Amino acid sequence: MHDYDGAYISGKWRSGTGERIAVCSPADGSILGHVTAATTGDVDAAVDAARQAGTSGPWASTTAAERAAAIGRLADEVQARSGVLADLVSAEVGSPRKWASFGQIGVTTGVLRTYQKITEDFVFEDTRPSATGGQVLVQRLPVGVVGAILPWNAPLFTAALKLAPALAAGCTVVLKPSPEAPLAVSMFTEAVEAAGLPDGVINIVSGDVATGEALVSHPGVDKISFTGSTAAGKKIGAACAADVRRCVLELGGKSAAIVLDDVVLDEETVGGLVTGVMANNGQICVAQTRILVPGSRYGEVVGALEAAVGRMKIGDPADRGTQIGPVINRAARDRIEAVVARAQSGGARIVTGGVRPDGLDSGWFIAPTIVADVDNGAEIARTELFGPVAVVIAYRDDDDAVAQANDSDYGLAAAVWSADRARAARIAARLRVGSVSINSPGPIDFGSPFGGFKQSGIGREGGPEGIDGFVESRSIIF
Ligand code: NAD
Repeated sequence: MHDYDGAYISGKWRSGTGERIAVCSPADGSILGHVTAATTGDVDAAVDAARQAGTSGPWASTTAAERAAAIGRLADEVQARSGVLADLVSAEVGSPRKWASFGQIGVTTGVLRTYQKITEDFVFEDTRPSATGGQVLVQRLPVGVVGAILPWNAPLFTAALKLAPALAAGCTVVLKPSPEAPLAVSMFTEAVEAAGLPDGVINIVSGDVATGEALVSHPGVDKISFTGSTAAGKKIGAACAADVRRCVLELGGKSAAIVLDDVVLDEETVGGLVTGVMANNGQICVAQTRILVPGSRYGEVVGALEAAVGRMKIGDPADRGTQIGPVINRAARDRIEAVVARAQSGGARIVTGGVRPDGLDSGWFIAPTIVADVDNGAEIARTELFGPVAVVIAYRDDDDAVAQANDSDYGLAAAVWSADRARAARIAARLRVGSVSINSPGPIDFGSPFGGFKQSGIGREGGPEGIDGFVESRSIIF
């Protein structure tokens, strides 16, 4: 049992009076541990601790090189705990354990190590000629106290994408994990302490929407960095705008995988298309859940997906052979099943899946599902399902593929699959999305900007551009 009582403030767990939240396994409903919902008093104390650490503690006078080294030590300490952290994320999120080693923890240390180097190289001040003949010193200063609000699907990875650039800039942070998956983020405090980060640089308040709202509207918070649904992001953006509080929003997606007509449908390509949808049980923001296929090769691609998805091993996420675990909770399962059922009654064809797998009644399991004969305007092609479901949509020619890929309220990511990389790159350049991978299902690179066009978000994480979001520029004109 993993119990964390209270809020983590200034290097200590402080007992709280808020409601005790049970964290349950999505695979079998068993209780994995508890956290305490932070009260507004806890949020005040966490923000105060972050403010103090950022203005008067040892962190306030660190050099960029010292902060880079601290981020590197944090990477080392996460790495040293990678086994237990992967076990815990797998248990609370339902991520297949084998995948969690890389897809949850490996990417977390990857982000931290990438930012160690980016921080060493980042230009925190420069001098330039002024437009009127003198000199200007341009300084990039920490924005201040950051409220970082996390989703449940990748709790440590999304935390690292906020923490690393915020720490690089010299900010301090109050993290709010999701009530669905707060345990690994709570355990992460052991790495923070072992890395020797000064007290108050990273604080944690658990809880649901009310805790998030208290953080978003707190006058002591200078910047909100939010990752989660577009619906919540709209509310958070509006609340921040009311106080001119800075915010970055990393939101949902309905990304496309465009299969060009010259594609070689070998094991690697089909496996990549399947991974692009089904990784983390389909609960990944960049999941390429709209597979766009030329009419001339439609039957062949649908057949290959049917065979590959039909072979996937569904079951206990802790089992190293499992490829598909449960979705996060009953509400998610019911919502996904309802959309699939409406698609079917509207004429779409369930190629494989679409049912609850046999013998897994104690968790929130959905068999990995491929739905064919879907129009890009249908509900199932426009709504982010966040589960193991892909639709296959036919297109006429390259222009039609680009038009359909871009015909979405979202614009987070895409993948293009082709025997001709140059041709795939030309298609990629026409997509209104934040990142595109070519012949790979992973459109995220930690050293480069990542984020959404349209309703997939505002701002960027990753790369030096990620640090830009946590600095304020000041020009001193001589
Ligand atoms: P969610 O929006 O329900 O919740 C995210 C977090 O925000 C939680 O901690 C929640 O408690 C908090 N929250 C919700 N409403 C709030 C409000 N009004 N004020 C303050 N805090 C609030 O999302 P979720 O279900 O946890 O995560 C899944 C979503 O996250 C999907 O839409 C997915 O695409 C998205 N996501 C996006 C990225 C990205 O980088 N773009 C990465 C991972 C997940």
